[in-house]
Amino acid sequence: MNIVQKKSPNFWAGRKGYRPEGVVIHIMDGTLVGTDSWFANPASQVSAHYGVGRTGEVHQYVKEEDTAWHAGRVDAPVWKLIKPNINPNLYTIGIEHEGKPDDVWTDAMKQASAALIREICQRWQIPIDRGHIVGHFEIFSKKPNCPARDKKIIDELVAMASPQTPPPSQVEEGVKKIEEGLKILKGI
Ligand SMILES: [Zn+2]
Repeated sequence: MNIVQKKSPNFWAGRKGYRPEGVVIHIMDGTLVGTDSWFANPASQVSAHYGVGRTGEVHQYVKEEDTAWHAGRVDAPVWKLIKPNINPNLYTIGIEHEGKPDDVWTDAMKQASAALIREICQRWQIPIDRGHIVGHFEIFSKKPNCPARDKKIIDELVAMASPQTPPPSQVEEGVKKIEEGLKILKGI
């Protein structure tokens, strides 16, 4: 996939011995262009690994091997894989998305984000499920609408990113073929 590099100064080199074990989904609450400049500003003290725009454009701010600053605050976390007293930035990859918490996501943004999630999870052997792809709100309850007011978007991204979920029609087709093959084997 085509990724535009937009290096941010806001990161730690390396991960202090940790590795990515989850992907955190965020909403920019603004534009991709605005986020580019906010993450480029050392005074902001924030970043994410990626930003996905409403047209499907993908920007990379921090290398996956390095620690971006997107989910460092923990408040009433509900994520099951949270590690007590360890900064979540050290073991997650952060993806920002263009828009506001009430916006309907464009197909282009969903598809680009899902493709990116799939690639990240394959690279780091992270299972593509709701336990490993989480909303920021699941780590930091004071951001209840990050990435969205309607949390279904995360389920949708997980479903789209899963390479092993063929559409039901394809499953039916496969079952039919197996049944036909069995008939031939049995000589019916
Ligand atoms: Zn967030």
